[in-house]
Amino acid sequence: MRRQAAPGPRALAYRYAAATTLAAAVFAVDAFTHLGSAVAVLYVLVLIIVADIASRHAIQAFAVGCVGLTLFAFVYGHGVDVMVEPGLRLLFSLSAILATTVIVLQRHADRLTVESQAELLDVTSDAIYLSDAIGRIAYWNKGAETLYGWSFDEAWGANAHALLATRFPEPRDAIAATLRQTGEWQGELTQRTRAGQTLYLFSRWRRRPDGTEGGGTTLETNTDITARRQADEALKDSERRYRTIFETLAVAIWEHDLRPVKEALDALRAEGVTDLAMYLAQNPDFVTRTRSLIRVTDVNGTALKLMGVATKEDFFTRLDDFLPEDDPTFPAFLLALNRNVESHTAETTIRTRQGELLRVIVAFNFPPGAPLDRVQASVLNITERVKAQEALQHTRSQLDHALRAAMLGEVSASIAHEINQPLAAITAHAAAGQRWLNRPEPDLDEVRASLAQAGAAATRASEVVRRVRTLMTQVEPEKTLLPVNAVVEEALHLLRNEMAAQGIVLAAALGAEDSRIEVDRILLQQVLINLMANAMQAMQATPPGARRLGVRTHAVPDEVIIEVCDTGPGFSEQVAQKAFEPFFTTKAQGMGLGLAMCRTIVTAHGGEIAIAAPEQGMGGKLRLSLPAVPAAES
Ligand code: ADP
Repeated sequence: MRRQAAPGPRALAYRYAAATTLAAAVFAVDAFTHLGSAVAVLYVLVLIIVADIASRHAIQAFAVGCVGLTLFAFVYGHGVDVMVEPGLRLLFSLSAILATTVIVLQRHADRLTVESQAELLDVTSDAIYLSDAIGRIAYWNKGAETLYGWSFDEAWGANAHALLATRFPEPRDAIAATLRQTGEWQGELTQRTRAGQTLYLFSRWRRRPDGTEGGGTTLETNTDITARRQADEALKDSERRYRTIFETLAVAIWEHDLRPVKEALDALRAEGVTDLAMYLAQNPDFVTRTRSLIRVTDVNGTALKLMGVATKEDFFTRLDDFLPEDDPTFPAFLLALNRNVESHTAETTIRTRQGELLRVIVAFNFPPGAPLDRVQASVLNITERVKAQEALQHTRSQLDHALRAAMLGEVSASIAHEINQPLAAITAHAAAGQRWLNRPEPDLDEVRASLAQAGAAATRASEVVRRVRTLMTQVEPEKTLLPVNAVVEEALHLLRNEMAAQGIVLAAALGAEDSRIEVDRILLQQVLINLMANAMQAMQATPPGARRLGVRTHAVPDEVIIEVCDTGPGFSEQVAQKAFEPFFTTKAQGMGLGLAMCRTIVTAHGGEIAIAAPEQGMGGKLRLSLPAVPAAES
């Protein structure tokens, strides 16, 4: 089926001239000689000359012409008297011409069909070629020309797979056997183009046997899948890289299927639950139930080591298997999931296979739009750090206590020391006054003078007390210029562990980003720690899911405001009146010095501290204001 170009007008003209000349020659011999045979039969050669090149109409015209010439030559030679023998010869010639015309027209129709089918093969972008029994190319479509770079004429007759350096996915014998048995084969292979580029192709073969052993032709249709293969390879490569990172990361990672939890939360919403925090606080069994729904789907090597498990198959199957029952952080996790946040971090405790409790920071990532069936949690073991911090905190609080005791002792000793003298003076003046009165004739002037001196001594004593107290409580702050949020964040950091241990959710909104204050960092931290510690103590009776500590900063003209609020019971009117008085406490173990100290320190910084009106749904709220340092000075 070698593809042929359409004949040009010149080729057509030559053929027609040849056919016409032959027709004229046959006619001349037929009409003007007396050769006894059926010369007119030779008209079939005229038809054969134009058969593969002429149009249907031209073939018909030549046929009519030949018949006409035959009849004319007959009449010309024999007249209209039909004799038997020449008549039979005429009939014989006409039959041959007509039979040839029918065959030529039939072949012409077949040729048109084949040509239009071949054109169809050229329309597809797939590379299609036909090879004979020994692999030589017999047909090569436009797609093959474009894809491989060889034209039909260049490819024709070459061995297809040698030309294209084909590499097969299985041995050639196996492919040949499949072709023999089923007549078809398909698979992925690589071939090289004329320019030397390697292509990945999906190849479909169809064999058409010709009845001989090993004979017949094979039609191969090849679809270029190079781009897809490269994309697949790139994807696999990135998956491999991701796997390697996942497995070798120093952080433990496990994946969870959170879909059932999300469904449970969605169901709650559908039931009309709007305040999820409240619902969770009131329905601890819902929390327990949802926890048990979480399956672990994958873990990395570091996680196995951390949890003391040998293989992935042996790893815990559910979150419940290693999260202690009294874990207080799960409600906060549910709230985060419900809010569709992009990440959530919690500090919690987990139990290893050997039963050891570990303190960990767990960070969940919920990329927007990603399915919840494989949510990753990165887990950082901070057990040692927490132990060190706890030891440090313990030492600090012991020291603090000792310092306070020492300070109290010092205050009382100083007061005692300082007022001893005025007290002695008062005693002496009182005794003298008494003696003057006890005289037979009391000297009232002396009595008056003694009393006046005793009064003056008492005044001095109270002055001494005030001075000593001022002296002892007066702070000499070492002021530095600091961003207010940095100080607040440091204080929050110091209390993070305790908050996590008590299941307190922190709601920090630090709005005063650019505000700076001139403060003694340690003292202001002491104030904030006191306020937050009070807030945490106030929430001891609040159910775990509802414990929230609000810390806010914001700037107003010339000032920075810091607010600390909680979900405890708040201040009663009586407590609010006395809360800042030294030694006022409502706690069994309280010293009643915290808020007093806060006020002293804040006042020393030119600021103010007060109990603020509680917000909706919240308990106690303390508000302190400090002078802001204008930007130009900072
Ligand atoms: P202490 O904490 O040692 O009792 P404080 O001066 O810190 O001393 O507090 C005085 C009192 O003020 C507390 O005993 C408590 O009754 C009340 N109080 C302080 N903060 C809060 C708060 N956030 N919510 C309710 N009451 C509080």
